[in-house]
Amino acid sequence: MKLESLIEQLMNKYEHIAEIHIAHPDLSGSETYIHVKVHTGEAESIEEYLDIVPSGNIKVKTADERSWTLPVTVMATYDGPGNIQRTSGTTIYKSDDVIGAEPRDVETGITMFRKKLVGMCPHCGAEPESLIDHYRDNMDCAAAEEGRA
Ligand SMILES: [Zn+2]
Repeated sequence: MKLESLIEQLMNKYEHIAEIHIAHPDLSGSETYIHVKVHTGEAESIEEYLDIVPSGNIKVKTADERSWTLPVTVMATYDGPGNIQRTSGTTIYKSDDVIGAEPRDVETGITMFRKKLVGMCPHCGAEPESLIDHYRDNMDCAAAEEGRA
C-alpha cells in the first residue's frame, strides 16, 4: 500500500482529524519503520492500534524519487494534537481549527515528509549534516517546521 492511499483511507474513516503525525527513522540510525498517529476525538482509546495495512508494509517515495518499503504501524488517539517536530517526526496534516498552529494540508505535509526522509530541510532545501543543528541555527526553518501561528 502506498502512503498516500493509507492517508486517504484515514481521512475517509474519520469525520474529523485534528492532526496526523508520522514518526520516521532518523537516517543516521538503523531503524527503518514508520509510525502513523492520528489525533481524532473519534478514537476509542489513547492508543488504538488500527489494522488498516494488511501487509504491514507501506511504500513511500523520498524527495529524490527513490521508493522505500517500510514496516508501518498505525494508531489513532484521542489525545490532543501537538507533536514536537524533529528530524525523526513530521506532522503531515493539521486541521484549520487547531488553536495556536497553522493548518497543514496533506500534500504539503507529505512533501515535507519526503524531504526529511533524505535529511533535507523542508523549508530552505539545504541538506545539512545534521537537521537538528540546522534548525538550531535557522530560526525561520525551525518555526516553519513547527507550524507556529
Ligand atoms: Zn532550512
